Amino acid sequence: MHAGSPSLHGANPKLRLAARRTPEDLDALVLNLLAASNRPISAYDISDRSIVAGQSIVPNQVYRTLARLIDQGLVHRVESLSAYMLKQQSFDGCLICDQCQAVQILSDPDLFARLQDCAHRFGFAVDRTVVEMHGCCRDCATHDHPNREHEAKRVFSDSTPPPNIIGV
Ligand SMILES: [Zn+2]
Repeated sequence: MHAGSPSLHGANPKLRLAARRTPEDLDALVLNLLAASNRPISAYDISDRSIVAGQSIVPNQVYRTLARLIDQGLVHRVESLSAYMLKQQSFDGCLICDQCQAVQILSDPDLFARLQDCAHRFGFAVDRTVVEMHGCCRDCATHDHPNREHEAKRVFSDSTPPPNIIGV
């Protein structure tokens, strides 16, 4: 019996198969792994999960694939977590619970406009704006949550669009 070897020359047919995948195959794999996650995950998480799923993607491939998917507007990078999530709606910012790691998307086009106005008043030309607020979500604030995974899934999978959470 052979010991498991990480070598590409080993007998693992899945790794040999991986070399023949097209960028479109990798896009679909990464999108599926992100869709299966109930929270933003890192590139290394994606690589680890791809191995568990039997379709190994090495981190360099994951980064290249993520860059492509971000360019296409399909994936969003949560900067303060160095993690990635599907971009399923207009993304103007997010609320990140530091207790259960649930992420709530903020959809408020006025938010960027107001921040741009603030910057312009200082003669500042904005290249990039990141609005990520860390804190404690309503569920964690109001419940003793024995199962944080469950809480995160519940919050993150709530598909009702969050209409202008930040009021005018
Ligand atoms: Zn929470």
